[in-house]
Amino acid sequence: MRLKREVAILGATGTVGQRFIQLLQGHPWFEISVLAASERSARKKYREACKWRLETAMPEEIGDMTVVNTNLKEVQQAGDVDFVFSALPGSIAGPIEREFASEYPIVSKASAHRMEGDVPLIIPEVNPEHLQLISIQKKRRGWNGFISTDPNCSTIQLAITLKALMKFGVKKVIVSTMQALSGAGYPGVPSLDIIDNVVPYISGEEEKMENETRKILGTFYGEEIQPANITISASCHRVNVKDGHLEAVYVELEQKPTVEEVKETFREFVGEPQRLKLPTAPERPIIVREETDRPQPRFDRDAGKGMSVVVGRVRRDPIMTIKYLCLGHNTIRGAAGAGILSAELMFKKGLL
Ligand code: NAP
Repeated sequence: MRLKREVAILGATGTVGQRFIQLLQGHPWFEISVLAASERSARKKYREACKWRLETAMPEEIGDMTVVNTNLKEVQQAGDVDFVFSALPGSIAGPIEREFASEYPIVSKASAHRMEGDVPLIIPEVNPEHLQLISIQKKRRGWNGFISTDPNCSTIQLAITLKALMKFGVKKVIVSTMQALSGAGYPGVPSLDIIDNVVPYISGEEEKMENETRKILGTFYGEEIQPANITISASCHRVNVKDGHLEAVYVELEQKPTVEEVKETFREFVGEPQRLKLPTAPERPIIVREETDRPQPRFDRDAGKGMSVVVGRVRRDPIMTIKYLCLGHNTIRGAAGAGILSAELMFKKGLL
């Protein structure tokens, strides 16, 4: 038995793929065995195929690896694989992930399978019980592996804060986002579209936030998820910030807690990753700032090594019940860090 689980990364050259590589350096349970991307990158050394955009240096041994095509046979030939992280574009991920799931567990950042009835959409602190869908999925589809998905980056931070508020009865949510450029991948939004500007539309994002949040906060009934009975309205906008999505959130609650009770609820919120002490779990999933001008992307996105959601300006709302801002690092808590935390939970539960 090998000491660590070997992992292949699909979409390894992209924004999220690079974060996976960075965050997996020195991981106690997982090590990278195969890097896969498009035909454009295949057969090249990783350092030639990838335009590395992170502040930390590309690990030397990763730069030396040869990228392979995102194709089951090529990946199998390239190295030992126990499970797969997928950071492929949603538009092409569907058939590729199904092919890999016939053999391997896949933890996917892509949207292709998120809303399918037998596919878990996991935030480890919020709905770990939804992993029970995996055995149903494997039986139904006849796969040796399975697909588990992580939500959209802007959904994850919202859903974590709403989960904490569920004890007060969440009825309606309005959310308005200010989303970072790295959320659009690389090269992403053309510079002349975003300098001195805000783009008030992100294709498909509002529907994802509304539908995914209801599934994540839904209840597992033995065979399927009953979506939460919450009305959600999202408005999504791209702003001139490198990393870190900021969201203005307005929530109508059944109960009427005080602002202090809401802050205390956020501060005390923990989930299974904290109880299990998973390697990537932040000590505090939600950090509450008291300053009137926080959270801010530049100062708060790295809180909890990018895995904490930072909440601020919690106050009463004259139309809904409560309002606040929340901020999350979109490529860490919203993407690669989320995928790794999900995989750590699955590993602990014997699913990998
Ligand atoms: P990206 O920077 O555009 O990277 C895309 C990756 O997919 C690259 O490695 C690219 O390889 C590969 N790829 C593209 N077309 C391919 C094809 N036809 N066959 C095989 N590989 C192909 O995108 P990203 O921002 O990393 O996003 C990756 C996924 O994560 C998307 O589904 C996105 O929605 C999701 N996501 C992103 C974020 C974020 O903050 N960026 C957050 C949450 C979720 P080449 O370099 O060879 O072209």
